Amino acid sequence: MIKRSVMELINMIDVQNDCASFADTLITGVSFNTRTIEKGNLFIPLKGETRDGHEFVQLAFNQGAAVSLWQRDVPNPPKNVPLLIVEDTLVAMQQLAQSYRKELSLKVVAVTGSNGKTTTKDMLAELLSLKYKVQKTSGNFNNHLGLPLTILGLEDDTEVAVLEMGMNHFGEIDLLTNIANPDAAVITNIGDAHLQELGSREGIAKAKMEILNGLKSNGLFVFPGEEPLITNALKNIPNNWKVRTFGKHDSNDVYPTSLKMTESGSVFEINESNDIFQMPVLGEYNVMNALAAMLVASEWGVPFEQMNKAFANLKLTTMRMEMSDGINGSHVLNDAYNASPTSMKAVIELVSSLEGYTKKIVVLGDMLELGPNEAEYHLEIGSYLNPETIDLVYTYGELGKLIAKAAEENFGSARVFAFENKNELISHLKSHLVNNALVVVKASRGMKLEEVVQSITE
Ligand code: ATP
Ligand code: MG
Repeated sequence: MIKRSVMELINMIDVQNDCASFADTLITGVSFNTRTIEKGNLFIPLKGETRDGHEFVQLAFNQGAAVSLWQRDVPNPPKNVPLLIVEDTLVAMQQLAQSYRKELSLKVVAVTGSNGKTTTKDMLAELLSLKYKVQKTSGNFNNHLGLPLTILGLEDDTEVAVLEMGMNHFGEIDLLTNIANPDAAVITNIGDAHLQELGSREGIAKAKMEILNGLKSNGLFVFPGEEPLITNALKNIPNNWKVRTFGKHDSNDVYPTSLKMTESGSVFEINESNDIFQMPVLGEYNVMNALAAMLVASEWGVPFEQMNKAFANLKLTTMRMEMSDGINGSHVLNDAYNASPTSMKAVIELVSSLEGYTKKIVVLGDMLELGPNEAEYHLEIGSYLNPETIDLVYTYGELGKLIAKAAEENFGSARVFAFENKNELISHLKSHLVNNALVVVKASRGMKLEEVVQSITE
């Protein structure tokens, strides 16, 4: 993590007061939370929606902070403690991260996309660890706070940083990529999450492509080659980047030549290697995430033949999609964490492709934040469900009803059940859970379908 004297800090950020009297003081690491602050940290008080971090500056010092930032327009700074007065504490933290990154000699790979960022980030970290000392974004810490904090936590001897970049609005990825100045940028996919704010899939693509604004001039850009919104836009950006694509089709630099889903995970081969790859993660879309990660790793000198070792280490716990044992000998695939039309279709495809179950049931809830065309998106999911590969369809919620309505056209009404009451849904569902049935549960987080998962798992 960052270790600098105050003298060095004032060369990295714009400080407005005279710090000569404590210029030799050393800071080790930064924190904006007094609950987790450690001795020697630089405390960064941030103005939140409900509380202002400046209220906690004195407490931060009591708990061992070495120095604190202070935003100029906040009245009554405490006396007799070492403060660095700045125009805006959030901007100062971002500036500090940007300067610190420039001083580090490590390589940065940045990951954005509508879906699969965290998964790809975790895969990248495993693969690159075969050759380098790697640090990565912890959990989902991918925004204007999490990204600078991750950078400020990088150690001197780290060789590669894998950073996730998330966004809801235009300009956010631009900010993050300019802080991180990546050597490689990955876009996992262009989906339809955040349509409400970004207007269209074109808008989404444009917002993700902002990642290129900070990419080094000789950097590596990896993206899904079958996404015309990226390939077309790229034609109009002059650059010296090394461009590599992944996807299903043989027009990509890397594509699967065989692919199957088994009980223990995905098994696939690729055009670039003779190995058979195995990973304990299900879903064709996760194989796509893996291809993106494999491309970067191989460009950076990790041999394909070693990659299975890294895949074996992938922890399912870091994956959003979890398989657990359900009641009556059933199996439950929990993907109740988030949902957009793209990720919902991906999961439906996965369930359809899995074999060996007595019965396959989907429980789908509302996809939130889709904007004015939300009804259409839900109807589309209903039509996407295939009555030959799925046995029963449950829906939950107001928009979920539209999924049910469209599904009924193909399934008939006896195999589709729409609920607005979760307990009624659960008891109905329980009566259909037989030995070796597979249930997949998916909706936007706000629908709290994990309550369904809890009631039907052991
Ligand atoms: P967030 O925006 O919440 O940070 P994320 O982009 O980090 O999400 P993950 O956490 O890796 O995404 O995956 C979340 C879900 O998205 C998965 O459980 C799966 O349903 C879906 N998903 C993951 N990868 C893809 C992909 N390449 N294409 C479509 N859907 C995907
Ligand atoms: Mg994520």
